[in-house]
Amino acid sequence: MAVSCAAAALIIAGCAHLSAPPGWDAVVLETASLADPLAWRAGEGLPDRAVVLAGQLVVHADFPLAGQHRLIRDLETLRTDVSQTLSLPVSDEPVHLYLFGEPRRYDEFAARRFPGFPVRRAFFVETDTTLSVFAPWQDRIAEDLRHETTHGYVHAVVPTIPLWLDEGIAEYFELPRGEQGVHREHVAHLTGRLLDGTWQIDLARLEPLTSPGEMSQDHYAEAWCWVHWLLHSTPERRRLLQDYLIDLRRDGTTAPLAARLTHVEGSPLVCAAAVRRHLESLVGDGSFALPR
Ligand SMILES: [Zn+2]
Repeated sequence: MAVSCAAAALIIAGCAHLSAPPGWDAVVLETASLADPLAWRAGEGLPDRAVVLAGQLVVHADFPLAGQHRLIRDLETLRTDVSQTLSLPVSDEPVHLYLFGEPRRYDEFAARRFPGFPVRRAFFVETDTTLSVFAPWQDRIAEDLRHETTHGYVHAVVPTIPLWLDEGIAEYFELPRGEQGVHREHVAHLTGRLLDGTWQIDLARLEPLTSPGEMSQDHYAEAWCWVHWLLHSTPERRRLLQDYLIDLRRDGTTAPLAARLTHVEGSPLVCAAAVRRHLESLVGDGSFALPR
């Protein structure tokens, strides 16, 4: 997800995504409010004019929002797409979406409740008890909500997913269904970086990332690229990703994906070359002839 910060004319990729370990709320935020979503609604100016229930989603808006709104229906369909594509079960755990009609109110809320958190167009917060998405209603709301809601659907069943994979999956599903997960912005970015000769595909560099603040546009784009390669190159690789997610559900410390790929594909260099060929195949018109 490309993110713009008008004040600083800054363009970065990705969402602000916060997974809160036990006790974290006492450190970063004012204590107790994260553990009690009712407290958020009561005193923090969260949207509460309309509440729409849509499958797993509880959508709170501070403007009139029809339950049959196309965007809400799209997010319900997304739940099935995520489940079927990743071979994950669906969950009934609620995912709360807080939609602000005015971006200014969203900005004020984010600054007040999440000081020090990277400025993003939307964000997802996981606590011990709640999964929540916060977003202002603006031109790219559909893309933003697909991205953030994907985090919610995935975390409801795989709460310990590594950050890079979490973001790669969200980048994949933020696209409209007809795009087949091909993220043209990321394809252009990665091919440009390869042509520059200043960047190489390297999963081992992604896997240690633990903080959204560490993630650059390179990281988001590469994370998406690995996910697309795993899902679209061969059935065996798709199965490998699905098996990894199943293992993560059972044990968040299971063997990382890079080690599994090395076992199956060969060396990391061989694997990276296969991902690169996949990326080249997505360029489409052949206008990018990447040097070997
Ligand atoms: Zn994200």
